[in-house]
Amino acid sequence: MAEGEKGLLVKCPCCGAAVRWQPAAEFRPFCSRRCRDQDLLAWATEAYRVVGEPNESEGSPDTT
Ligand SMILES: [Zn+2]
Repeated sequence: MAEGEKGLLVKCPCCGAAVRWQPAAEFRPFCSRRCRDQDLLAWATEAYRVVGEPNESEGSPDTT
């Protein structure tokens, strides 16, 4: 499973920019901290909204 020195190219989930999957890419799979922050923000907003839903209040091992 050697990755080689080229590194894998992935797409930033936020803006779709190509990101090289390497240790130096601190915010991978995002292209930048801004994209990562945006995604975290969106995720947090979603999670916050879901908390209010009475449907799935129990049995969610994913939630901390
Ligand atoms: Zn991006």
